[in-house]
Amino acid sequence: MNIPALDLDAVAAACARAGLRVERDAPSAAFTTYRCGGPLAVLVRVGAVDDVRTLASTVDVQAVPVLVMGRGSNLLVADAGFRGIAVVLDGAFEGLELDRATGEVVAGSAVPLPVLARRSAAAGIGGLEFYVGIPGSVGGAVRMNAGGHGRDTAEVLISVRGVDLGSGTVEERTAADLELGYRHSNLSGTTVVLDARLAGRPDDPELCNARIAQIVQWRREHQPGGQNAGSVFTNPVGDAAGRLIEASGAKGARIGGAVVSEKHANFFVADDTATATDVYRLVRDVQRRVADATGVVLVPELQLIGFDDEAGDA
Ligand SMILES: Cc1cc2nc3c(=O)[nH]c(=O)nc-3n(C[C@H](O)[C@H](O)[C@H](O)COP(=O)(O)OP(=O)(O)OC[C@H]3O[C@@H](n4cnc5c(N)ncnc54)[C@H](O)[C@@H]3O)c2cc1C
Repeated sequence: MNIPALDLDAVAAACARAGLRVERDAPSAAFTTYRCGGPLAVLVRVGAVDDVRTLASTVDVQAVPVLVMGRGSNLLVADAGFRGIAVVLDGAFEGLELDRATGEVVAGSAVPLPVLARRSAAAGIGGLEFYVGIPGSVGGAVRMNAGGHGRDTAEVLISVRGVDLGSGTVEERTAADLELGYRHSNLSGTTVVLDARLAGRPDDPELCNARIAQIVQWRREHQPGGQNAGSVFTNPVGDAAGRLIEASGAKGARIGGAVVSEKHANFFVADDTATATDVYRLVRDVQRRVADATGVVLVPELQLIGFDDEAGDA
Protein backbone atom coordinates (compact mmCIF):
# COMPACT_ATOMS: atom_id res chain seq x y z
CA MET A 1 0.00 0.00 0.00
CA ASN A 2 1.28 3.46 -0.87
CA ILE A 3 1.27 5.79 2.12
CA PRO A 4 1.25 9.40 0.92
CA ALA A 5 4.18 11.45 2.24
CA LEU A 6 3.23 13.79 5.04
CA ASP A 7 2.54 17.15 3.37
CA LEU A 8 2.96 19.59 6.22
CA ASP A 9 2.63 22.61 3.91
CA ALA A 10 -0.84 21.36 3.04
CA VAL A 11 -1.63 20.73 6.72
CA ALA A 12 -0.52 24.27 7.66
CA ALA A 13 -2.46 25.77 4.76
CA ALA A 14 -5.63 23.88 5.76
CA CYS A 15 -5.32 25.13 9.35
CA ALA A 16 -4.79 28.71 8.16
CA ARG A 17 -7.80 28.47 5.84
CA ALA A 18 -9.87 27.26 8.80
CA GLY A 19 -8.95 30.50 10.60
CA LEU A 20 -6.44 29.01 13.03
CA ARG A 21 -3.23 30.79 14.08
CA VAL A 22 -0.47 28.85 12.39
CA GLU A 23 3.31 29.20 12.24
CA ARG A 24 5.68 27.10 10.17
CA ASP A 25 8.95 25.84 11.64
CA ALA A 26 8.68 27.63 14.97
CA PRO A 27 11.85 27.11 17.05
CA SER A 28 11.01 24.61 19.78
CA ALA A 29 13.70 26.10 22.04
CA ALA A 30 11.31 28.96 22.75
CA PHE A 31 8.72 26.49 24.07
CA THR A 32 10.73 24.21 26.33
CA THR A 33 12.68 24.66 29.55
CA TYR A 34 15.71 22.94 27.99
CA ARG A 35 15.80 25.81 25.48
CA CYS A 36 17.24 23.68 22.71
CA GLY A 37 15.89 21.53 19.89
CA GLY A 38 14.77 21.93 16.30
CA PRO A 39 11.70 23.37 14.61
CA LEU A 40 8.08 22.51 15.32
CA ALA A 41 6.92 21.96 11.74
CA VAL A 42 3.37 23.31 12.21
CA LEU A 43 2.62 25.27 15.36
CA VAL A 44 -1.07 25.96 15.98
CA ARG A 45 -2.15 28.27 18.78
CA VAL A 46 -5.62 27.64 20.19
CA GLY A 47 -7.25 30.24 22.42
CA ALA A 48 -10.80 28.90 22.77
CA VAL A 49 -12.70 25.62 22.72
CA ASP A 50 -13.96 26.43 19.23
CA ASP A 51 -10.36 26.59 17.97
CA VAL A 52 -9.74 23.10 19.32
CA ARG A 53 -12.90 21.83 17.64
CA THR A 54 -11.87 23.51 14.39
CA LEU A 55 -8.46 21.88 14.62
CA ALA A 56 -10.13 18.51 15.17
CA SER A 57 -12.30 18.90 12.10
CA THR A 58 -9.41 20.16 9.94
CA VAL A 59 -6.70 17.64 10.69
CA ASP A 60 -6.70 13.86 10.50
CA VAL A 61 -4.77 12.93 13.62
CA GLN A 62 -4.44 9.35 12.36
CA ALA A 63 -2.22 10.73 9.59
CA VAL A 64 -0.45 13.67 11.21
CA PRO A 65 1.55 13.40 14.47
CA VAL A 66 0.31 15.75 17.21
CA LEU A 67 2.17 17.18 20.19
CA VAL A 68 0.04 19.06 22.71
CA MET A 69 2.40 21.38 24.55
CA GLY A 70 2.17 22.92 27.98
CA ARG A 71 5.21 24.80 29.24
CA GLY A 72 7.61 22.27 27.79
CA SER A 73 9.06 21.51 31.21
CA ASN A 74 9.08 17.76 30.61
CA LEU A 75 10.00 17.71 26.93
CA LEU A 76 13.17 17.27 24.89
CA VAL A 77 12.61 18.00 21.20
CA ALA A 78 15.21 16.55 18.81
CA ASP A 79 17.50 18.89 16.88
CA ALA A 80 15.82 17.57 13.72
CA GLY A 81 12.59 19.00 15.12
CA PHE A 82 9.07 17.65 15.34
CA ARG A 83 7.39 16.80 12.02
CA GLY A 84 3.76 17.25 12.95
CA ILE A 85 1.38 19.69 14.58
CA ALA A 86 2.38 21.22 17.91
CA VAL A 87 -0.63 22.63 19.75
CA VAL A 88 -0.08 25.51 22.17
CA LEU A 89 -2.92 26.81 24.35
CA ASP A 90 -3.50 30.43 25.37
CA GLY A 91 -6.41 32.91 25.72
CA ALA A 92 -9.43 31.27 27.37
CA PHE A 93 -7.18 28.50 28.68
CA GLU A 94 -5.32 30.94 30.92
CA GLY A 95 -8.31 31.60 33.20
CA LEU A 96 -8.49 30.78 36.89
CA GLU A 97 -11.69 30.71 38.97
CA LEU A 98 -11.18 30.53 42.72
CA ASP A 99 -14.01 29.76 45.14
CA ARG A 100 -12.79 30.78 48.58
CA ALA A 101 -15.92 29.41 50.28
CA THR A 102 -15.52 25.83 49.04
CA GLY A 103 -11.81 25.84 48.18
CA GLU A 104 -12.60 24.67 44.66
CA VAL A 105 -10.54 25.97 41.76
CA VAL A 106 -11.25 25.72 38.03
CA ALA A 107 -7.98 26.28 36.21
CA GLY A 108 -7.46 26.64 32.47
CA SER A 109 -4.96 24.14 31.16
CA ALA A 110 -2.43 26.84 30.17
CA VAL A 111 -2.23 28.29 33.69
CA PRO A 112 1.35 27.91 35.02
CA LEU A 113 1.37 25.76 38.16
CA PRO A 114 3.32 28.31 40.26
CA VAL A 115 0.65 30.91 39.39
CA LEU A 116 -2.07 28.46 40.41
CA ALA A 117 -0.33 27.82 43.73
CA ARG A 118 0.35 31.48 44.54
CA ARG A 119 -3.03 32.85 43.48
CA SER A 120 -4.86 30.11 45.38
CA ALA A 121 -2.77 30.79 48.48
CA ALA A 122 -3.37 34.54 48.27
CA ALA A 123 -7.12 33.90 47.98
CA GLY A 124 -7.06 31.72 51.11
CA ILE A 125 -7.21 28.35 49.34
CA GLY A 126 -4.80 25.76 50.70
CA GLY A 127 -3.73 22.32 49.52
CA LEU A 128 -2.31 23.40 46.16
CA GLU A 129 0.96 24.86 47.51
CA PHE A 130 2.99 21.90 46.23
CA TYR A 131 2.52 23.17 42.67
CA VAL A 132 4.67 26.22 43.32
CA GLY A 133 7.91 24.36 42.61
CA ILE A 134 6.74 22.64 39.41
CA PRO A 135 7.20 24.90 36.38
CA GLY A 136 4.61 23.15 34.20
CA SER A 137 1.03 23.98 33.25
CA VAL A 138 -2.26 22.61 34.54
CA GLY A 139 -2.68 20.52 31.35
CA GLY A 140 0.81 19.06 31.72
CA ALA A 141 0.19 18.35 35.41
CA VAL A 142 -2.94 16.36 34.60
CA ARG A 143 -1.26 14.39 31.82
CA MET A 144 1.82 13.63 33.97
CA ASN A 145 0.08 13.43 37.35
CA ALA A 146 2.68 15.96 38.49
CA GLY A 147 3.49 16.08 42.17
CA GLY A 148 5.97 16.83 44.87
CA HIS A 149 6.33 17.41 48.58
CA GLY A 150 4.19 14.40 49.38
CA ARG A 151 1.25 15.30 47.15
CA ASP A 152 0.29 14.80 43.55
CA THR A 153 -2.36 15.88 41.09
CA ALA A 154 -4.41 12.72 41.70
CA GLU A 155 -5.04 13.90 45.26
CA VAL A 156 -6.49 17.28 44.30
CA LEU A 157 -8.06 16.67 40.89
CA ILE A 158 -11.85 16.40 40.75
CA SER A 159 -12.39 16.36 36.98
CA VAL A 160 -11.06 17.61 33.65
CA ARG A 161 -12.64 18.75 30.42
CA GLY A 162 -10.85 17.69 27.28
CA VAL A 163 -11.27 17.36 23.54
CA ASP A 164 -9.95 14.39 21.65
CA LEU A 165 -8.71 15.68 18.31
CA GLY A 166 -9.95 12.46 16.71
CA SER A 167 -13.61 13.10 17.52
CA GLY A 168 -13.71 16.82 18.30
CA THR A 169 -16.16 16.36 21.15
CA VAL A 170 -15.74 17.99 24.55
CA GLU A 171 -15.78 15.38 27.28
CA GLU A 172 -15.69 15.70 31.04
CA ARG A 173 -13.78 12.98 32.87
CA THR A 174 -13.41 12.44 36.58
CA ALA A 175 -10.01 11.97 38.19
CA ALA A 176 -10.84 8.27 38.64
CA ASP A 177 -11.44 7.93 34.88
CA LEU A 178 -7.86 9.02 34.19
CA GLU A 179 -6.23 6.12 36.08
CA LEU A 180 -3.64 8.46 37.53
CA GLY A 181 -0.50 6.77 38.80
CA TYR A 182 3.10 7.76 39.40
CA ARG A 183 3.75 10.33 36.63
CA HIS A 184 1.05 8.62 34.59
CA SER A 185 -2.45 9.16 33.24
CA ASN A 186 -4.34 7.31 30.53
CA LEU A 187 -4.83 10.49 28.46
CA SER A 188 -3.98 9.84 24.83
CA GLY A 189 -1.51 12.04 22.97
CA THR A 190 -4.36 13.45 20.89
CA THR A 191 -6.43 14.65 23.85
CA VAL A 192 -6.26 18.35 24.59
CA VAL A 193 -6.99 19.11 28.24
CA LEU A 194 -9.04 22.31 28.35
CA ASP A 195 -9.35 22.88 32.08
CA ALA A 196 -9.30 21.12 35.43
CA ARG A 197 -11.46 21.31 38.54
CA LEU A 198 -9.29 21.03 41.64
CA ALA A 199 -10.15 20.57 45.29
CA GLY A 200 -8.32 22.97 47.57
CA ARG A 201 -9.68 23.91 50.99
CA PRO A 202 -10.44 27.21 52.70
CA ASP A 203 -7.35 28.18 54.67
CA ASP A 204 -5.51 31.14 56.15
CA PRO A 205 -3.61 32.97 53.36
CA GLU A 206 -0.68 33.61 55.71
CA LEU A 207 -0.31 29.90 56.45
CA CYS A 208 -0.59 29.07 52.75
CA ASN A 209 2.06 31.66 51.88
CA ALA A 210 4.35 30.35 54.61
CA ARG A 211 4.09 26.82 53.15
CA ILE A 212 4.83 28.24 49.71
CA ALA A 213 7.94 30.02 51.00
CA GLN A 214 9.15 26.78 52.60
CA ILE A 215 8.73 24.82 49.37
CA VAL A 216 10.51 27.51 47.33
CA GLN A 217 13.40 27.48 49.79
CA TRP A 218 13.61 23.68 49.73
CA ARG A 219 13.76 23.69 45.94
CA ARG A 220 16.53 26.31 45.92
CA GLU A 221 18.56 24.26 48.35
CA HIS A 222 18.08 20.86 46.72
CA GLN A 223 17.65 21.42 42.99
CA PRO A 224 19.80 23.17 40.39
CA GLY A 225 18.68 26.25 38.48
CA GLY A 226 19.37 26.73 34.78
CA GLN A 227 17.91 24.99 31.81
CA ASN A 228 16.54 21.57 32.74
CA ALA A 229 13.35 19.54 32.80
CA GLY A 230 13.32 18.37 36.40
CA SER A 231 13.77 14.65 36.98
CA VAL A 232 15.09 12.94 33.86
CA PHE A 233 14.15 9.43 35.01
CA THR A 234 11.29 8.10 37.10
CA ASN A 235 12.22 6.56 40.42
CA PRO A 236 12.20 2.76 40.31
CA VAL A 237 10.00 1.15 42.98
CA GLY A 238 11.67 1.46 46.37
CA ASP A 239 14.66 3.47 45.14
CA ALA A 240 15.61 6.89 43.80
CA ALA A 241 16.97 7.46 40.29
CA GLY A 242 19.29 10.17 41.67
CA ARG A 243 20.84 7.71 44.13
CA LEU A 244 21.41 5.11 41.41
CA ILE A 245 23.00 7.71 39.11
CA GLU A 246 25.34 8.76 41.90
CA ALA A 247 26.15 5.12 42.62
CA SER A 248 27.09 4.61 38.96
CA GLY A 249 29.59 7.46 39.18
CA ALA A 250 27.77 9.57 36.60
CA LYS A 251 27.28 12.65 38.77
CA GLY A 252 28.98 15.56 36.99
CA ALA A 253 29.22 13.61 33.69
CA ARG A 254 29.11 15.90 30.66
CA ILE A 255 28.37 15.52 26.98
CA GLY A 256 28.80 18.75 25.01
CA GLY A 257 26.72 21.41 26.75
CA ALA A 258 24.72 18.98 28.91
CA VAL A 259 25.82 17.95 32.38
CA VAL A 260 24.49 15.74 35.20
CA SER A 261 23.87 18.18 38.04
CA GLU A 262 26.21 18.02 41.02
CA LYS A 263 23.32 19.23 43.18
CA HIS A 264 20.77 16.59 42.15
CA ALA A 265 22.00 13.76 39.92
CA ASN A 266 18.56 13.14 38.35
CA PHE A 267 18.57 16.68 36.93
CA PHE A 268 20.57 17.21 33.72
CA VAL A 269 21.33 20.84 33.01
CA ALA A 270 21.90 22.31 29.54
CA ASP A 271 24.05 25.38 29.00
CA ASP A 272 23.55 27.87 26.17
CA THR A 273 25.75 25.83 23.83
CA ALA A 274 23.86 22.57 24.41
CA THR A 275 22.06 20.80 21.61
CA ALA A 276 19.16 18.42 22.13
CA THR A 277 21.52 15.70 20.89
CA ASP A 278 23.89 16.47 23.79
CA VAL A 279 21.05 16.07 26.30
CA TYR A 280 19.75 12.96 24.57
CA ARG A 281 23.18 11.30 24.45
CA LEU A 282 23.68 12.09 28.13
CA VAL A 283 20.30 10.49 28.95
CA ARG A 284 21.26 7.30 27.11
CA ASP A 285 24.82 7.31 28.48
CA VAL A 286 23.64 7.63 32.10
CA GLN A 287 20.95 5.01 31.52
CA ARG A 288 23.63 2.59 30.27
CA ARG A 289 26.03 3.41 33.12
CA VAL A 290 23.33 2.81 35.75
CA ALA A 291 22.30 -0.46 34.08
CA ASP A 292 25.92 -1.63 33.99
CA ALA A 293 26.57 -0.63 37.61
CA THR A 294 23.31 -1.69 39.24
CA GLY A 295 21.31 -3.81 36.79
CA VAL A 296 18.43 -1.28 36.93
CA VAL A 297 17.26 0.11 33.59
CA LEU A 298 15.99 3.60 34.38
CA VAL A 299 12.92 4.78 32.47
CA PRO A 300 12.92 8.38 31.26
CA GLU A 301 10.25 10.60 32.76
CA LEU A 302 11.43 13.21 30.27
CA GLN A 303 9.44 12.88 27.05
CA LEU A 304 11.69 12.49 24.02
CA ILE A 305 10.08 14.06 20.97
CA GLY A 306 11.26 13.47 17.42
CA PHE A 307 13.94 10.91 18.33
CA ASP A 308 13.99 7.59 16.46
CA ASP A 309 13.58 5.48 19.61
CA GLU A 310 11.20 7.70 21.60
CA ALA A 311 8.47 5.05 21.52
CA GLY A 312 10.42 2.78 23.83
CA ASP A 313 10.16 5.14 26.77
CA ALA A 314 7.64 6.40 29.27
C1 LIG B 1 12.90 22.72 37.55
C2 LIG B 1 11.85 21.65 37.33
C3 LIG B 1 11.30 20.99 38.41
C4 LIG B 1 10.32 20.01 38.23
N1 LIG B 1 9.80 19.39 39.31
C5 LIG B 1 8.81 18.50 39.15
C6 LIG B 1 8.20 17.87 40.29
O1 LIG B 1 8.55 18.15 41.43
N2 LIG B 1 7.20 17.00 40.08
C7 LIG B 1 6.77 16.67 38.81
O2 LIG B 1 5.85 15.88 38.68
N3 LIG B 1 7.35 17.23 37.72
C8 LIG B 1 8.34 18.13 37.85
N4 LIG B 1 8.92 18.70 36.75
C9 LIG B 1 8.52 18.24 35.40
C10 LIG B 1 7.36 19.01 34.74
O3 LIG B 1 7.28 20.34 35.25
C11 LIG B 1 6.03 18.29 34.92
O4 LIG B 1 6.06 17.02 34.27
C12 LIG B 1 4.85 19.09 34.35
O5 LIG B 1 3.66 18.43 34.68
C13 LIG B 1 4.92 19.26 32.84
O6 LIG B 1 3.98 20.24 32.49
P1 LIG B 1 4.14 21.07 31.15
O7 LIG B 1 2.99 21.99 31.04
O8 LIG B 1 5.48 21.70 31.07
O9 LIG B 1 4.00 19.92 30.07
P2 LIG B 1 4.92 19.65 28.80
O10 LIG B 1 6.31 19.38 29.23
O11 LIG B 1 4.71 20.71 27.79
O12 LIG B 1 4.27 18.29 28.30
C14 LIG B 1 4.34 17.13 29.11
C15 LIG B 1 3.23 16.18 28.69
O13 LIG B 1 1.97 16.77 28.99
C16 LIG B 1 1.18 16.86 27.81
N5 LIG B 1 0.38 18.10 27.89
C17 LIG B 1 0.79 19.34 28.23
N6 LIG B 1 -0.26 20.20 28.20
C18 LIG B 1 -1.34 19.47 27.83
C19 LIG B 1 -2.71 19.78 27.61
N7 LIG B 1 -3.21 21.02 27.76
N8 LIG B 1 -3.54 18.78 27.22
C20 LIG B 1 -3.08 17.52 27.06
N9 LIG B 1 -1.79 17.17 27.26
C21 LIG B 1 -0.94 18.14 27.63
C22 LIG B 1 2.18 16.87 26.66
O14 LIG B 1 1.59 16.43 25.46
C23 LIG B 1 3.22 15.92 27.18
O15 LIG B 1 2.79 14.59 26.97
C24 LIG B 1 9.90 19.68 36.91
C25 LIG B 1 10.44 20.36 35.81
C26 LIG B 1 11.41 21.33 36.02
C27 LIG B 1 11.97 22.08 34.83
